[in-house]
Amino acid sequence: MCGIVGFIGREQAAPILMEGLSRLEYRGYDSAGLAVYDREKGLQVVKAKGRLQVLRDLTDGGAKVPGTMGLGHTRWATHGAPNDENAHPQVSQSGRIAVVHNGIIENYGELKSFLEAKGVVFTSETDTEVVAQLLEFYYAGDLLDAVFKVLHRIEGAYALGIVCADEPDKLIAVRKDSPLILGYGEGFQMLASDVTAVIQYTREVCYLEDGEIAVLTRDGIRVFNHPYLQPVEKEKHHVDWEVSAAEKGGYEHFMAKEIMEQPKAFRDTVFPRIQDGRVVLDDLNLDGDYLRETDKIYIIACGSSYHVGMVAKYILEKLLRKPVEVSLASEFRYCDPLVTEKTLCIVISQSGETIDTLAALREAKRLGARILSIVNVVGSSIARESDDVLYTWAGPEIAVATTKAYSTQLAVIYLIALRFAELLGTISGE
Ligand code: GLU
Repeated sequence: MCGIVGFIGREQAAPILMEGLSRLEYRGYDSAGLAVYDREKGLQVVKAKGRLQVLRDLTDGGAKVPGTMGLGHTRWATHGAPNDENAHPQVSQSGRIAVVHNGIIENYGELKSFLEAKGVVFTSETDTEVVAQLLEFYYAGDLLDAVFKVLHRIEGAYALGIVCADEPDKLIAVRKDSPLILGYGEGFQMLASDVTAVIQYTREVCYLEDGEIAVLTRDGIRVFNHPYLQPVEKEKHHVDWEVSAAEKGGYEHFMAKEIMEQPKAFRDTVFPRIQDGRVVLDDLNLDGDYLRETDKIYIIACGSSYHVGMVAKYILEKLLRKPVEVSLASEFRYCDPLVTEKTLCIVISQSGETIDTLAALREAKRLGARILSIVNVVGSSIARESDDVLYTWAGPEIAVATTKAYSTQLAVIYLIALRFAELLGTISGE
């Protein structure tokens, strides 16, 4: 899952898209591209394997690409080698529809065969190209209608940005199991896979929910639900992260900066939850009766969060005298887990978007468990789908090797252990 940014406004789009992509660069990627519409030149697509600098050089930082609306993408290949053809945007056969995509279209093989049988010629190895080709297949003068039809046919995880040369005054965005945010501006609107790509231009954002379809025009954004295509009223959020908070702040590496931020992250996470010498978890709706009925705690996580889970097992078993099992999220769905409605699942994820963890959460819910998540990104999918959420207030963590997110996750585990032990009466007030 890599980066998406989209812009529709009155200023030249390409430099804004390049800037947005550079804010997403830290995630890693193997190629990058732009699709920008201009009245004279039509839909222009520039894409290249390698660093964003290659695209910058090709377009003179975007200056060579005229037009006031378009999409940008950084790709982390899942289907097809990292090369120029497979880079996004992926374009339909006529060149009139361009798509950027994060995620995986799981049934792309059968859709590709279906379209090839109708004479469509594919030019890439990507799963994404089927979305562009299928849109063209269904397009009959109404892009929203074509998008709607395509959503009925594709399966998998996706955040999609879509432009069509025949409807040059709109951008369309949809998502399922892959994050996408919308940014509201004066005379312009944006979409992105992460707020860091838009906060230089606007701090008013909303989070698109699974299955929602957004139509962005210069003057506003309309959001519709799926499958009924009814208008949805979205709640706007003001982002107060500073741009610099998402940058290196003078340190040579993000990791060095984030190590030094640990004391603050720890204070922000722990101190508001200690009042008069006691742990207070106002954000939880679990009481002593529920905990007494709970026969097991199941911790689900990936990577470093899983390591937090392994430490948590010792802390929780010691203080609560209840069995705790720790499972790698990627194994959970396949191990026929012993989870019932008497199980409390603690789900841990920095981003709140870890796809294996999200899938495991859904499985645990299906089995009747109650879900308490520990998440760093407010409003992320895991946070939204949990019964209870305890946020770690670590701020953005950019380094892949975790530091402050790990420390704050562990701090939250200690808070949970102390509070639950108090509710269960397994420790004294002292
Ligand atoms: N599955 C798509 C591809 O391989 C998108 C990958 C991504 O999320 O960057 O092109």
